Amino acid sequence: MRELFEQAGQFHGHLCPGLAIGVRAAAEALRLLDVEKGGKALYCVAESRACYLDGIQTVFGTTIGNGALEVREEGNAAFNFFDRASEKQVRLEALPLPEGLSREEKIERLLYAPMEDVFLVGQARFAPTKA
Ligand SMILES: [Zn+2]
Repeated sequence: MRELFEQAGQFHGHLCPGLAIGVRAAAEALRLLDVEKGGKALYCVAESRACYLDGIQTVFGTTIGNGALEVREEGNAAFNFFDRASEKQVRLEALPLPEGLSREEKIERLLYAPMEDVFLVGQARFAPTKA
């Protein structure tokens, strides 16, 4: 996980908790959808725009450039992941962090805490606008 995070940091320009959210969400989505990064059928609809988008682009492989990452301004730190080949989907919403953590403690928690402590897992709320 640390290696993925460092990789994403190279692309993003710095290492921050927001990036950690995107990296962890993307890694969990690959696992939950049982797919590999970069599959052409993958798609992500993010519900807001922030640092985590670069984690998703790096780890899930859906990017603005390849047209498989879409951003809706819903104001949630939440991501709808799709495998359009298997029609599997999952939505991960970042849970609030406990107060009083340092930046590094936040990153550690986001990368390594049990998934249910980091994300609310549910059904996709926003479908891809492009088929
Ligand atoms: Zn950042």
